[in-house]
Amino acid sequence: MIELNTCYRDLKDSYLFYNIAQKVAAFSAANPGKKLYRLGIGDVSLPLVPCVIEALHQGVAHQAQQDSFRGYMPECGAPFLKKAIAAHYRSRQVALEEDEIFVSSGASDELGDILDLFSPRSKALVIEPAYPAYVDANVMAGREIVHLAAGAHNGFLPEPDGSDADLIYICSPNNPTGAVFNKAQLARWVEYANSRGAVILFDAAYEAFIEDEALPHSIFEIEGADTCAIEICSLSKTAGFTGTRLGYTVIPKALYRGGMNLNAMWVRNRTTKTNGVSYIIQKGAAAVFTPEGQRQIHENIAVYKNNAKMLMQTLDKLGIWYCGGKNAPYIWLKCPRGMSSWEFFDYLLEEIQLIGTPGAGFGACGEGYFRFSAFGDSEDTKIAAERLYNLLSK
Ligand SMILES: *Cc1c(COP(=O)(O)O)cnc(C)c1O
Repeated sequence: MIELNTCYRDLKDSYLFYNIAQKVAAFSAANPGKKLYRLGIGDVSLPLVPCVIEALHQGVAHQAQQDSFRGYMPECGAPFLKKAIAAHYRSRQVALEEDEIFVSSGASDELGDILDLFSPRSKALVIEPAYPAYVDANVMAGREIVHLAAGAHNGFLPEPDGSDADLIYICSPNNPTGAVFNKAQLARWVEYANSRGAVILFDAAYEAFIEDEALPHSIFEIEGADTCAIEICSLSKTAGFTGTRLGYTVIPKALYRGGMNLNAMWVRNRTTKTNGVSYIIQKGAAAVFTPEGQRQIHENIAVYKNNAKMLMQTLDKLGIWYCGGKNAPYIWLKCPRGMSSWEFFDYLLEEIQLIGTPGAGFGACGEGYFRFSAFGDSEDTKIAAERLYNLLSK
């Protein structure tokens, strides 16, 4: 009989979003017609910008005509899109060769697939609270996981603690905490990774939300990162591509371990295991990197930023500790009155029908914290902020 990957037995069931859905359904059944204010979502709510829609239509039109029809695309991405992404990095003083860029169908896909490059005996270090997929993808591969707990004492931006790790996950701006590493803090992680021959997987899914000029959008803004880091990015949150699907990964040619080149290994992996991303979607994605595309996506980001601002002002008035919100679409707050994450969830749902995400769902050190998302409807977010103030200022 076939032997299965029994590592799947070691996966812990993720009850977070299931529990939230159950509790909300029970509340709605008991209180029919009561309006809910959803600040729990990690998905965007605004449609694709006009520039992208126009480029997608153009892509479809090309596929309808003999002389512009495209079949298989290059496995590692269309040259026109890689050129646009390289120019985007150049605007941040990061010089990349086009074959250091790999177009993907999204960051989640890549975060899982890239693990093919590393031995199951390598150890993964996950800074918690964390995006649950980092842990689960490594459990499936049978990899040992080192949990590094962040906390309010270090602004949820821990330094390397000397623990034994080969594969280091860094998500900055962070989901769920909204915290962003500065250049000096990232430089310490780069030095740590280089010194022990580890590799950093840098998740830059929220880079477009950074507004402080001094904060790094890419780990390659840090000297020495080209010999220790892989950057995984996505248009999901940047440009509303969660349902359209497009991401990109940067693997520097200078990244070697044990005499093997990781860029060359990934080319071999992609040319074996994929046949590239849809031409139409890559056309739409290239429009994001035009000046007009950038202007339009930043209009949408400004709407989410304004949602975050309304929530931050309310928390400031209430004197509640939080991080994030300024350079990220998430606000991570300390539950008031000593409540646990789930107690606070129930309290907000019952009293003001506000739905957030309990911090305990992102790792044990998230207990006592709570996440608000800025991706919700603006009018709802405004009313939710008022209701929150009225409830907690009593
Ligand atoms: C939303 C998100 C992504 C994006 O994933 P896609 O698969 O590209 O949609 C990546 N990392 C984190 C931490 C996220 O929250």
